[in-house]
This record gives sequence, C-alpha cells and structure tokens, in this order.
Amino acid sequence: MAKVIEALLAAMTLEEKIGQLTMAEGSGHGTTRDVQSAIREGRLGSLLNVHGSEIVRELQRLAIEETRLEIPLLFGLDVLHGHRTIFPIPLAEAAAFDPPLWEATARAAAAEASRDGIMLTFAPMLDLARDPRWGRIAESPGEDPLLGSRFASAKVRGFQGRSLSDPTSLAATAKHIGAYGAVTAGREYASGDLSERTLLELHLPAFKAAADAGVAAIMAAFTDIAGVPAHANVTLLRKTLRCAWGFEGVVISDYGAVAELVPHGVAADLAEAAALALTAGIDIDMMGDAYRRGLPAALARGLVGLEAVDAAVMRVLRLKERLGLFDEPYRGLSRDAPADDGLGRDLAREAARRSIVLLTNDGVLPLPPGLRRIAVVGPLADAARAMLGPWAAIGEGTDATTIADGLRLALPDCVVDVSAGVSIAGSDTHGIADACRIAETADIVVLCLGEDETMSGEAGSRAHPELPGAQRILAEAILDLGKPVVALIASGRPLIVPWLVERASAVLATWFLGQEAGHAIADVLIGAANPSGRLPVSWPRDVGQIPIFYAERPTGRPEIAANRFTSKYLDVPATPQFPFGHGLSYSRFVLSGLRSTTTEIRRGQHIEIAVDVTNEGPVAGEETVLFFIHDPVASVARPLLELKDFAKIRLRPGERGTVTFTLTSEAFIFAGRSLAPVLEVGEIELFVGKSADRGSLLRTSIRVIVAQDRLAD
Ligand code: BGC
Repeated sequence: MAKVIEALLAAMTLEEKIGQLTMAEGSGHGTTRDVQSAIREGRLGSLLNVHGSEIVRELQRLAIEETRLEIPLLFGLDVLHGHRTIFPIPLAEAAAFDPPLWEATARAAAAEASRDGIMLTFAPMLDLARDPRWGRIAESPGEDPLLGSRFASAKVRGFQGRSLSDPTSLAATAKHIGAYGAVTAGREYASGDLSERTLLELHLPAFKAAADAGVAAIMAAFTDIAGVPAHANVTLLRKTLRCAWGFEGVVISDYGAVAELVPHGVAADLAEAAALALTAGIDIDMMGDAYRRGLPAALARGLVGLEAVDAAVMRVLRLKERLGLFDEPYRGLSRDAPADDGLGRDLAREAARRSIVLLTNDGVLPLPPGLRRIAVVGPLADAARAMLGPWAAIGEGTDATTIADGLRLALPDCVVDVSAGVSIAGSDTHGIADACRIAETADIVVLCLGEDETMSGEAGSRAHPELPGAQRILAEAILDLGKPVVALIASGRPLIVPWLVERASAVLATWFLGQEAGHAIADVLIGAANPSGRLPVSWPRDVGQIPIFYAERPTGRPEIAANRFTSKYLDVPATPQFPFGHGLSYSRFVLSGLRSTTTEIRRGQHIEIAVDVTNEGPVAGEETVLFFIHDPVASVARPLLELKDFAKIRLRPGERGTVTFTLTSEAFIFAGRSLAPVLEVGEIELFVGKSADRGSLLRTSIRVIVAQDRLAD
C-alpha cells in the first residue's frame, strides 16, 4: 500500500495536494454545495463536524466516485466524553484515578462514533491546568503531569483500540500542544510565558505519553509561548515532537489557527502564515483556508519548498491508509447498531459514580433510611442539559437524568419536592421564598448549585470561579433554616465556596457527570455507591491563590506562623480549601506500615514500596493511594511533592490489604540545570498517603548511590 500512496502523490496536482492538507466544516462556512464541489475538485481531504451515516456515505461517495484520484475523505469530530452516550467531562473522570475506566469510556465512545462515520476524534485534551479561571480546565485531566500521562495513554488505547484498521476504533488527537493551560491569568487564548523547564516537566509529559502510546494525531494550541505561537513553533513541533519523540503521525492545526498567525503578529499575510505553519510541522489546516489561499504564493515566493508539502501529504495519506480507508471508505457505517442492551448507560452510570468527590461530610451521608420528605433545591436540581457539560454535541438530544429524577427513583417512599429558587446566572431572587417553603417541611435539603454547561469549556474563562448569579443568596437563605443541607456543586472547575464548605452538612463535587448524572448522584447520596473520587486539582479557597497546585518548589523562607517574612498571605491561608487527591468515603481507610525493599538504589535498579491499608469503616469501599517523592538536596530545587504513582484498592469492612509500588531509578531522574536528564546521588524522601496534604503522609527515604551526573541529552 505504501507504493499506492506514493503513486498517488506522484499523480497529484498542487491543488490536490493542498486539498489533502485542508479540513473544512460540512456546513456553517459555505453551503453544502460549496463543500460538494470542493470535494469533487479534490480541494478537500477531510471534514469536521459532519456525522451520521447518510451524509457521510454521500460525501464519501463523491470523493471516491467523482474525483480524479478517488482518495477517501477523513471525517473528524470532537468526541471528547462520549458520542451518543455522554460520560462525565474529562476533569470529572480524572477524579476516578482509574485508567481502565478511562480506557473503557473512550472505547465505548469510539464504537458509537465510528458507526456514525467518524474516523478521527479531537481528543484526548491533555492540557495541564492549574488555573480554574480557565474554562478548558473542564476538558483537562487536571494539574498533575503523571496523572495526565496515565490519562493520555488510557484514552489513546481506548479510542484507537487494538488497531486503527478496526472499524470500531477512532484515530485519536492529543491536543493542544503546548502549554495552552498556562494562558496568563486564565484568560482564554491569551499569551503564556513560562520557562523551558516548566514546559518540559509539566506541560509536555502527557503529550509524550500519548505519542508513546501511538496516538495518530496531535493538535497545536491556539496560544503562544513567550511570543512564539504553537502553530509556528519549530522547536516544539519539529525538534521535540518529530525528532526527539519520533512522532510520525499527523499534526493538525486548531480551528482557523494557521490563518490567525496574521492577527497573532508573526505573519504579514496568508502566504507567510501558511509557510510558517508548514515549516513548523502543521500537516492539516483546519478551517482557516490558509493553505489553500496562502501556500501557492508561499511556494512561488520561495518561503517554503514543495518537499514540505509532499511530506505533509504523505502523512495524511498514511493516516487514511492506517484507518483502512483505501480498502473500506465506508468504514464503520455498515455495522448494524447493537441492540440497545443498556451497556453504554451502565458504563455511563458507573463512570459518573466514580467521578463524584465527597468533599465534606459531617455524617449526614449516606442518607438515612426512612426519610419522608426531601427538598431538592437550586437551579441545577432539574437541569438536564447542564448535566452533560461542554462538548457534548451529539448528546444534545440525549435525555440526561436530572438530580431530581435520580432521587425520585431512588427514594420511592419519600416525597421529593423540587424548586429551582433562582436561575443559574440571573439576579432574580423571587423564587427563593418558594424554595425555602419546601425546604422548611423537608427532613433534608439537597442543594443543587453550580454552573451551566456554557460557563466552562472553550472561551469559558471566568475571573471569579464562584457560584454565579444569585445562588449564594439562595444557599444562605436555605442554610439559615437550620436543616441538614447536602450541597452538590455541578461545574467544569473547582468553585470557590468557603462559606458553603463551612456551613453545609456535606459538600460534593459532582462536576458535569453526563447522561447518568442523576442516577449516579442518587446512588452516592443513598449509599448504594460508596464515593471514591479524588480531586485531580487543588481546590482554592480564594481567587487570589490562583494558580494553585500541590507540587510547589521549596522556598528559602517556608511559612512559619509567627514569622512575618515567610512565604504566605496576610489575608488568607496559603493552603487550598481541599488538596489534590482529597476525597472522602463512607469507609474509613487507615494506612500503616510503609516499607521499602531496599534503602539504597543504583542506576537501573528498582525498589518496591509497600503500605498496608485497612478499612476500619462499616462498608466496603475503594481507596486511592498516592505515592510521591521529594529530592531535598539537588542541583535544582525540586518540588516538595511529586506524584510518581497511584493505586486503587477495594476492601470489605475490617479487611486489610497491601498496596505495592514498583519504581525504577528512572523515577528519580529530573532535568538538571542544563535541562539534560540527571540522576543525582543523595537521599530521596518517599511519601505515601491519601492526598497531597503533606502533614498526612507516611514517610520513608532511600539513597541514590553511584549515580551518573549526566545521562543522555
Ligand atoms: C477547539 C478544539 C476543537 C476544534 C474543533 C477548536 O475551537 O479549540 O479543541 O477540537 O475547535 O471543533
């Protein structure tokens, strides 16, 4: 087949080559007729946002029956957290700390989307996010590079399945390289300025993990790093991605971003923009039409050579070949829809349950049996669409179970009264009286607060990541009644609500859980499911603490309460409201007996670290054990804690089990002063525990001996 695509390349006109590098929307920009003629004339190689067997079949038929070279089209879509069945948003799913679950939901989404003619998903989104003002934190796996890397490989395995030629798989796109999450002050599309070390140690590892897992495509970020837009960044896309990592897949632009190199201030016109992007390594121009309109002039002016065009076309054709499109252009479409066996919904409910994080609980949960009346209050009480979250395009028409629905079904003998009280973002407070009226007669109030699905995701930056509108007024009126209040926070980010944490009997992060949200929440509230989610991000108590993350580097002046000139704020504590990894359970897990197989390690050796976990609580449950290291004396100051592994353990009441982590000396390698990897001699502290709260961790240490100063460059 390699021969066939080479022969195709040799037969192509420049216009047809540029066509293979061009991705357009099926509608929206230009009429369907325009798209059809572009396909017929070989001016389009791929489409986005077109799905459904009829339209895909028809457009594909045009490409293979009515074009000169009969090259099949590639159809791409943002299948981010489900396709028809909608799973929790990525930030929520990250809270499950559960790679097999991440893989399973991606697999299910791929199976559904491929049946609708989709071959390429613009997922997983892997941008490390430490700033909850940035709306796209909702789409990310959170603040930690190791967690992000595990998420990356699981998602790539899930989307891509055993082989891309399997018609139930999707080619995955790791996006958006690099450091999109580091936009200044959390403002969407803003410039980012960060050190090479930060890029290397924090923002790139998840992309490297995706590349190592064989991801088919990588998408560049809209933003720039220190003035160099990702779409023109040769160091990032060529030196790092292609040369250092050996990535041979396709690099896709973000929507219109090649043409945006002009307003971005690095290109004078589309020819320069196209030349910069192609030189940097962007193969497919999504929706900017910059390659079509700019490349011929760029070639004529000698800004870029034809060999760069050919190399990009070959990568696109190779992807089509790997997807089996030259043999089966209608890939995926001929499969019958599986009988509706409810398996997708079961998985969606399981994923949603596992994503819920129980932040506080004074004992009010699980709800006691025999409740006679509950009030489900708040603008998210009965809000189906909001449960799906951002990027749930195809799920739009899907019915999500609301919190009120879920509780009604779970508590058939209990009267469930529902009142929104206020709208999500409005200022009208007239409905609060009604909400208070039903709350007054209830045994317990479930307060459903948060954001709607448009307040996070792309262009969803918020300077104040707090409860919008009049929700605080509603919540305080309800809390003033003195009833037990269980507060649920539906959102695409941590929301700053210290006053609520202080006063509510229990607070849960319920994110945007997808289609089965209501059932999953009810399962957790009544105790049919024991909450096991853990925070994939530090949860701030004040907007002034942002960006906030656990892996801080030490300072020469660590905080000492009595000493003013130490690292702290005068007005708020420096610690987050809830640390990374925090999450309660109805079980009570106790960690003890931390031990390691050796006290010294040489390059190439490994160690095992074991810890016993006992469930001292009344019900079976699952604990997530986190393993961190700290290098206290190194050539560059190392973070006070760095996550190196995590594991889940399920235990019956009274049961004790052991979690073992195996580490090679690789785990202690870091980027030295010159950024080359080094393994340095000396003591390394090892910490094991349930969250990044340092004081709560078990500690031991190991010595690295006979290390080499400098490893490979
Ligand atoms: C987003 C990408 C997305 C693309 C296509 C862009 O606006 O930044 O994440 O894949 O649109 O929908």
